[in-house]
Amino acid sequence: MDVNDDLPDGSAAIGSMRSLSERLELTGQERAWHETDATLPVLISPYYFSLIDAADERDPIRRQVVPSVEELVSYTSESTDPLAEVSHSATARLIHRYASRAAFLVTDICATYCRHCFRRRFSGGSTGPASEAELEAAVQYVGSHTGIKELLFTGGDPLTLSDSNLERMIARFREVRPDLVIRICTRIPVTLPSRVTEALITMLGRYRSAPFYLFTQFNHPREITCQSSEAVARFIDAGIPAMNQTVLLKGVNDDADVLAALMERLVSIRVKPYYLFQGDLVGGTAHLRVPIEEGLLLEEELRRRLSGLAMPVYAVDLPQGGGKVPLGRHYMVGRDSRGAWMFKTVDGSIRTYDDPPVQLSKDSQA
Ligand SMILES: *Cc1c(COP(=O)(O)O)cnc(C)c1O
Repeated sequence: MDVNDDLPDGSAAIGSMRSLSERLELTGQERAWHETDATLPVLISPYYFSLIDAADERDPIRRQVVPSVEELVSYTSESTDPLAEVSHSATARLIHRYASRAAFLVTDICATYCRHCFRRRFSGGSTGPASEAELEAAVQYVGSHTGIKELLFTGGDPLTLSDSNLERMIARFREVRPDLVIRICTRIPVTLPSRVTEALITMLGRYRSAPFYLFTQFNHPREITCQSSEAVARFIDAGIPAMNQTVLLKGVNDDADVLAALMERLVSIRVKPYYLFQGDLVGGTAHLRVPIEEGLLLEEELRRRLSGLAMPVYAVDLPQGGGKVPLGRHYMVGRDSRGAWMFKTVDGSIRTYDDPPVQLSKDSQA
């Protein structure tokens, strides 16, 4: 499938500011955006566009996909590759930062471009799916590095590939590494749910030597519709567990009620909230980032309200390729005069916890 082709419902994706302006009354800041060499193109699927409330200039769906002139601003603290993915690339399309897992850049194309994209140095480019040589280089590397237990299929969006093209890639990796867990990282259930066909799920079912996991990116409760729930259910019903990575975005979901509703609705459609990401330091996204202090307050409030099942890990992917670390309030406050651990409860009161007596722990080791 080419995402620029007409969709099953007969409508074409919105791929320019002109077609956007024909459908939406643009604000001054939106109208002032223009393409430069460094910008991410505009592309919005008709389905995702239909979720926008056109009467609301500050609509949270609109803010994720309609560009603003603020994107043309970048700061010295930002870069085009804040996670130093280029220097952590093992092959042209393979990022190997953690010993146990690696990320394969299947394609640079998405069905809809998110204005907060942290991989905009790559996404929205013109190289398309990995070439045969790029695939083979990544396959050889993963084949000889058996410490890699999980491979992320990411990009771009891997589900913009045709079933047969995607199958070719999956088959090659599973041929050399039948044990390899594959994480399909995709926003397609959110932005183009009609792409999740029975044929796709049937194809994945032919490669059962190790599990697939679906990693989606729902950022707002209004993205959970009949169509997106159905798309996710197709994976889950086929035995593919679903996890969600939300990006914390100013003016979209930087609100405890919105985030709590999102996480609870995800649980109700059998999707486990996995990460809540602090925005990466990518040029052109400062207007969408939330200060960490505010993020910590939101995390604290979510911790009070949500079940462990509904609670994501708030995390930041550190600059210069430092990798992901959890963010959050600390509940362990130190030790009391007897040496017992002191904790703050989520409501702010203090409790202590005693380690086993030294004598006892020695006995149990004997
Ligand atoms: C985020 C990421 C992963 C996966 O990290 P988890 O903490 O296991 O979700 C793997 N490789 C790269 C390069 C990443 O950026």
